[in-house]
Amino acid sequence: MTEYGDGTRSVHAGLPPAVPGEPFLPGPVFAAPYHLDPEAGPAATPNGYGRPDNRTRRLLESAIGELEGGPALAFASGQAAVTAALLSILRPGDTVVLPADGYYPVRGFATSTLAELGVSVVFAPTAGPHPDYAGVRLVLLETPANPGLDVCDLAALADRAHAAGALLAVDNTAATPLGQRPLDLGADLSLASGTKALTGHSDLLLGYVATRTPSLLESLTVWRTTTGSIPSAFDAWLAHRSLFTLDLRLARQTANAAAVVEALAGRADVTGLRWPGRPGDPAFEVASRQMRRIPGIVGFDLGSADRVARFLAASDLVAAATSFGGVHTSADRREQWGDDTAPGFVRLSCGIEDAADLVADIVAALDKS
Ligand SMILES: *Cc1c(COP(=O)(O)O)cnc(C)c1O
Repeated sequence: MTEYGDGTRSVHAGLPPAVPGEPFLPGPVFAAPYHLDPEAGPAATPNGYGRPDNRTRRLLESAIGELEGGPALAFASGQAAVTAALLSILRPGDTVVLPADGYYPVRGFATSTLAELGVSVVFAPTAGPHPDYAGVRLVLLETPANPGLDVCDLAALADRAHAAGALLAVDNTAATPLGQRPLDLGADLSLASGTKALTGHSDLLLGYVATRTPSLLESLTVWRTTTGSIPSAFDAWLAHRSLFTLDLRLARQTANAAAVVEALAGRADVTGLRWPGRPGDPAFEVASRQMRRIPGIVGFDLGSADRVARFLAASDLVAAATSFGGVHTSADRREQWGDDTAPGFVRLSCGIEDAADLVADIVAALDKS
């Protein structure tokens, strides 16, 4: 089979065979129940009811599955996907290892719901040291971690998890499947928020879990059908349409991040600059080995909440907004959400504006603030 490049894969993933008179990507199918054959009933059709069955969603799932390299299930949000993986695998008495510096609502969910269900929760920093996995049922890694951008060695940690009899899940939100393919690196599950760079237009919420293990796929499918955490047909269609430009968007975001990092690196009023693509960054070595491209997300510290506010007010092109990976450049002061970061820490997500415009705007806003 031909191994196409990222641009080709992005634009063709999940499309049905060409049919004269039909669109490239069929429009969304809106249905709660579908017509049934009065005699044969549901056995005669793949579409009985909208919660388990939707053609638009299946096309999106085959697209994501092609990019991740394993069958995928779409969920209503990234959070729905992460919690589906945790709750469909973990049982009372199990131990789970989670990133200490990962997406903070996952940590909140673990210390409340999982702990109440009798699951022991261990936190480990993405950059290590990683604990002994003896007796662990599931390890969740997030790399690059949001928001601190540390990176861990997935192949090495997959070996370690499997040697201890543990499953490995990887949150691939920041990287996207074009940045790294956790299943190829040994992970049992690759999951993500599709709300961020995967779809990139800041107009929908989506999550997914991909796995090559049939029993995990089966229990996740049952989990999703019985809890009902499905994305709408319209959002699934919009997400699939957005995937066509994934390669182009990521390429521009990465290039913009490189330009912004170069402009920030020389400034005395910007500290703690982090970008895994920058030589000398603590994540640079592992990221260069493991990742096929570096996300357009940059971390730095402006010293205080006030200065961050002045910087954002002075900028014309950097929107104050949470989330990341969108086509518009945005920045978020993570501490305001209760994230365990310094008051002046900023997560800057580079959009697809022209690099020269973006750098000039950021430099001017820093000079003014
Ligand atoms: C945003 C995010 C999530 C949750 O995704 P939603 O689509 O907002 O529910 C999970 N993991 C990471 C790393 C994220 O950045």
